Amino acid sequence: MMTSEQYIESLRGLNMKLYKFGEIVENIVDDPIVRPSLNSFAKTYELAQDPQYEDLMTATSNLTGKKINRFTHLHQSTDDLIKKVKMQRLLGQKTAACFQRCVGMDAANAVYSSTYETDEACGTKYHENFVKFWTKVQDEDLAVDGAMTDVKGDRGLSPSKQADPDLFLHVVERTPEGVYVTGAKAHQTGYLNSHYVLVMPTISMRPGDEDYAISFACPTDAEGITLILGRQSCDTRKTEQFNNIDVGNKTYGGHEVLVIFDHVFIPNDMIFLNGEVQFAGMIVERFAGYHRQSYGGCKVGVGDVLIGATQLAVEMAGCAKASHVKDKIIEMNHLNETLYACGIACSSQGAPTKAGNYLIDLLLANVCKQNVTRFPYDIARLAQDLAGGLMVTQPSEADYRNPATHDYIEKYLKGVDSVPTEQRMRVLRLVENMTMGTAAVGYLPESMHGAGSPQAQRIMISRQANMEQKKALAKVIAHLDEVK
Ligand code: SF4
Ligand code: FE
Repeated sequence: MMTSEQYIESLRGLNMKLYKFGEIVENIVDDPIVRPSLNSFAKTYELAQDPQYEDLMTATSNLTGKKINRFTHLHQSTDDLIKKVKMQRLLGQKTAACFQRCVGMDAANAVYSSTYETDEACGTKYHENFVKFWTKVQDEDLAVDGAMTDVKGDRGLSPSKQADPDLFLHVVERTPEGVYVTGAKAHQTGYLNSHYVLVMPTISMRPGDEDYAISFACPTDAEGITLILGRQSCDTRKTEQFNNIDVGNKTYGGHEVLVIFDHVFIPNDMIFLNGEVQFAGMIVERFAGYHRQSYGGCKVGVGDVLIGATQLAVEMAGCAKASHVKDKIIEMNHLNETLYACGIACSSQGAPTKAGNYLIDLLLANVCKQNVTRFPYDIARLAQDLAGGLMVTQPSEADYRNPATHDYIEKYLKGVDSVPTEQRMRVLRLVENMTMGTAAVGYLPESMHGAGSPQAQRIMISRQANMEQKKALAKVIAHLDEVK
């Protein structure tokens, strides 16, 4: 396994073409806007080296028998699925941000089992291709981004019916050696911190969509790929002269990019689906299921930090003993632990796929994510309620450092006398960061839309709810058979 230092150095060798705020970025690794996201990702390497987290952070590979980082593991039991969620909660607690590496893990587990079943039905060799690629990922402890979401254009039209054929990523040229692809993947978390990208189709497909039913992996800096960084609220605070207090979380963060593939070559042995439209939906459903499970871990860990910051804020203001304050903190914990319960539940009810790796219970994973689209918003609302208005009206760090205003701020922003004013300012900025700043991207809108928007889970819940069985139960209890 790589150390976090080796991992960071390994990224310096990549040659990605990234645009940010209208300019090309020459040094992505040290860029002040991107770097906090790299620090979060690197934490997945750092904690794997720490003996106290060995059981959670590492696993034994079913492909090679070697000890590997759990973020590259193909889950072999329900215990593995549970440890995955616990590992994600731990990382959320340590970073208070999206640490990004789960997307590749979830994509790998979905593609591993789907390629097996595609080969079984179609006589293809995709599983062999994927096992070869993933063995390299495990052996070299590589970072892999999973890419599913196409930009989609007109939502009412299928991929092959779009006015612009590139609105879903597709094959534009076929040669004996491989294919060329064109299109874009949106909202890509962690791409800039990854060595490879594992691309999957974004929706179920029908005959006619063959060129769009494509899954493959390629280096993140492959020829023909252009990246454009997404903006986050308050992002430029990271580049200000005084950037200790106002950023809220100065070490960790996340990022998203728009990834544009312009005639990118993919060799045959890196292809995992190529035209078998009936299997596109299986990859989508399994990846989404795994990532919906993931949110029952990562968002809970981030929630732990937000609840802790809120408790500190009320203690620093001297109101922690008020009964309504205590009750609101209880409510925050109740909501957060409910999400965790869902993450653990869908893991404990997992089952093996035909390929042998374990899949979560899809109904419970979708219930988990449906709750994630709501509860972090309630937790953030309560955090803002308890933190008070000073969270958004306190002066800047530049004014705090200016001798002309420092003493006034020190005096008038004081809460409980024993707590230094600057500590109180830092805690309030952390709440601001997590509920409306850069980290809120990961904690709120990503909770809404990441791993699929709420309606996607409701469709899955309706499909998995087994209504016939429920009706049959009611018929027996009501003795409907006695009425002719
Ligand atoms: Fe991992 Fe959560 Fe980020 Fe997804 S949103 S990559 S599960 S930390
Ligand atoms: Fe996500």
